[in-house]
Amino acid sequence: EEIIIEVKNLKKYFPIKRGIVLSKHVGDVKAVDDVSFYIRKGETLGLVGESGCGKSTVARTIIRLLEPTDGQIIFDGIDITKLPSRDLRKIRKDMQIIFQDPYSSLNPRMTVSEIIGEPLKVHGIVKNSKEKERRVQELLDLVGLAPYHATRYPHEFSGGQRQRIGIARALALNPKFIVADEPTSALDVSIRSQIINLMQDLQKEFKLTYLFISHDLAVIRHICDRIAVMYLGKIVEIANNDDLYNSPLHPYTQALLSAIPIPDPEMAKKRKKIVLTGDVPSPVNPPLGCRFHPRCPNVMDICSKEEPKLKEIKPGHFVACHLY
Ligand code: SF4
Ligand code: MG
Repeated sequence: EEIIIEVKNLKKYFPIKRGIVLSKHVGDVKAVDDVSFYIRKGETLGLVGESGCGKSTVARTIIRLLEPTDGQIIFDGIDITKLPSRDLRKIRKDMQIIFQDPYSSLNPRMTVSEIIGEPLKVHGIVKNSKEKERRVQELLDLVGLAPYHATRYPHEFSGGQRQRIGIARALALNPKFIVADEPTSALDVSIRSQIINLMQDLQKEFKLTYLFISHDLAVIRHICDRIAVMYLGKIVEIANNDDLYNSPLHPYTQALLSAIPIPDPEMAKKRKKIVLTGDVPSPVNPPLGCRFHPRCPNVMDICSKEEPKLKEIKPGHFVACHLY
């Protein structure tokens, strides 16, 4: 199958500056540290991990909202890693983002029509305001909002409606690829599935490719074809949905999955809950060897000395762990 985006050895470090004029570079927050993956056209890749593991930084860096420190990003056959902003603008059309907090990502002084219509103008998609209004109405309809909402402001909407507006804005330019950064985390549980269903319907209708970021393994299970698990700036496991949930290999993945509630009490009895001790270490000075070793229930001698590489253990199932 065709690959829409390939990320090779991506690094994103944030320098830590000290001193009166912040002139002293004292270290780096290694938010994303040598991450590689690809996404096929039309699929949904899930990116899962605890908060602070680098998921959002991956999201923003691969669509060049942040400058990569190192590595390569190939989008639709074009190396966009160092593409100047002029050329990037054309490609931006094809890659959009839906943010976690639909409220702070919408300009409170703009009407819905202005919010959704702005990218249309910037990219010269519509010729006049009549065309713009028509397209805005079309987009509102696609996300399940009535036409009269166009003249309203973000504060007049519920959280779920705001996220629908965020989705309409992301769809405005007919993108091929959408990064969804925890799109349902800020919403009431009762409306999360509505937004997920909407995203799935839109994916089918427009053959969209998603990178879906979440810390919620139940949501990820529902929507993703393949899943990548991140820990402290690195991908530790990638597998198909069924393989990851039925036979997780990495001890960190196993611990994450053991924390999901199982509705069937018989099944629940059989499964042992793995409780991780200790906090996630700092991404400024990550542990040597395997970054998970200070918390790993299976830790061995080699784990603190040698960094495990991501290896394909079964077809399509990759893991970075010395156990394999
Ligand atoms: Fe645990 Fe070692 Fe595997 Fe890391 S490499 S996850 S410490 S067993
Ligand atoms: Mg985040």
